[in-house]
Amino acid sequence: MRKTIKTINPFNNNFIANYQCLNGVEISDAISISQITFTHWKNTNVKERVDFIKTLGFVLTKQQHLLAKTCVLEMGKPLKQALAEVQKCGILCDFYAENAEDFLAPETIKSDAAESYVTYEPLGAILGVMPWNFPYWQVFRFAVPSILAGNTVLVKHASNVAGCAQLLEDIFLEAGFPKGVYQNLLIASDQVEEVINNPIIKAVSLTGSEKAGAAVASTAAKQIKKAVLELGGSNAFIVCKDANVEDAVSVAVTARMQNTGQSCIAAKRFLVHDSVFDVFLDKFKAKVEALKSGDPMLETTDIGPLARIDLAEDVEKQVNKSIEMGAKIVTGGNREGAFYSPTVLINVTTDMPVFKEEVFGPAVPVMPFSSFEEAVQLSNQSEFGLGVTVFSKDVENIKSKVHLFEEGAVFINAMVKSDPALPFGGVKRSGYGRELAENGIKEFVNVKTIYIK
Ligand code: NAP
Repeated sequence: MRKTIKTINPFNNNFIANYQCLNGVEISDAISISQITFTHWKNTNVKERVDFIKTLGFVLTKQQHLLAKTCVLEMGKPLKQALAEVQKCGILCDFYAENAEDFLAPETIKSDAAESYVTYEPLGAILGVMPWNFPYWQVFRFAVPSILAGNTVLVKHASNVAGCAQLLEDIFLEAGFPKGVYQNLLIASDQVEEVINNPIIKAVSLTGSEKAGAAVASTAAKQIKKAVLELGGSNAFIVCKDANVEDAVSVAVTARMQNTGQSCIAAKRFLVHDSVFDVFLDKFKAKVEALKSGDPMLETTDIGPLARIDLAEDVEKQVNKSIEMGAKIVTGGNREGAFYSPTVLINVTTDMPVFKEEVFGPAVPVMPFSSFEEAVQLSNQSEFGLGVTVFSKDVENIKSKVHLFEEGAVFINAMVKSDPALPFGGVKRSGYGRELAENGIKEFVNVKTIYIK
């Protein structure tokens, strides 16, 4: 029996479409196509692959409104943010088009040989398991560098964005990529294991929850296949006593509320020095209250529904439990269907869900600290380690302290964000491996050593 995926618009709960999942035979056919295409694709040179990626960038721009609107319908992202996400995918194409040849060029290495060097060769068919929160960006940052390195990819996208997933395959085909370089694998999560177990699949990259990451990585480990994991986060946002509070507040609002709070690298715990706590809180509350919630299809909307009702219910539970434990609401705290109002909490302790769990929605605790050491300690008091923001006018001082943070990234006077030019990834339960930059394109390659006596 085929499984069916049903997509629902979280804004109004309207049915969008039904999708039939592939059966076992169709899955193995798709994997075989990936392998057959790989035997040709790996022999193309990087320049030829770059030309395809440039065309992909053009097609993406041409289709940006369709892509953005589909994402708004399926997961409720406000339209202007959906368009910005699609445009960022174009920036990633430009970045790798410009740098892929350099990144993948053989490198001479001095040794006791007459000549020694390494080459970077593709591995084969790579599986991507992707989340719904940035349905295009997450896929692009996995697929584009993997394909440029000479691999072929199959993408199992999140069920609630099955329409976005289909559009992704469509634009790769429209850009002229040979069939099989990029395939949308319309399957349910319990079919992922069988895909990883297929000997043709050489590695897997998952972006998503810890639970999914652990499941996928253990299947891959049993098959001695590489996995890259980009999992959850609970970034701290530290405002020091010498910070420009006005700037910190503006950045803080975007860092927490962008994508209606559904970002792995969102600032999820605000730590503010005692001396600026009250002024920060007042200004932050005012800006949060000024955000416009509503129909995500409107350009004026800042805050849409969460991607599914159950996700809004999860946030509600985390906030309510924290209130039961003594937290106090400064603003927000209401749920209506999939909408959860932007929420600020104080009187938060480290044992409360809003501090110790990842809150994947627009709710945030603001906590005071009295010394930088205490801020570092609170920041590190998390099972996650994606990134941290520190606001301070004494940049040199903070630079001398970045080693104290157990994080994949430290951003000073800026929100943590992904940038094609910079490596992206975490430590601790946020996962392992890196995406983007030169590091990302080298995750799924065979680093081959050549030694000549
Ligand atoms: P999720 O439930 O883990 O889903 C992610 C993907 O994994 C989906 O395609 C899902 O398929 C699939 N999946 C779920 N369980 C699986 C299993 N047992 N075996 C194989 N595949 C499985 O995560 P989400 O709710 O979509 O995304 C939210 C999480 O992702 C948050 O924790 C967030 O922080 C994290 N995230 C991390 C990053 C990063 O770069 N570090 C970026 C974005 C999001 P179905 O949809 O069919 O269940």
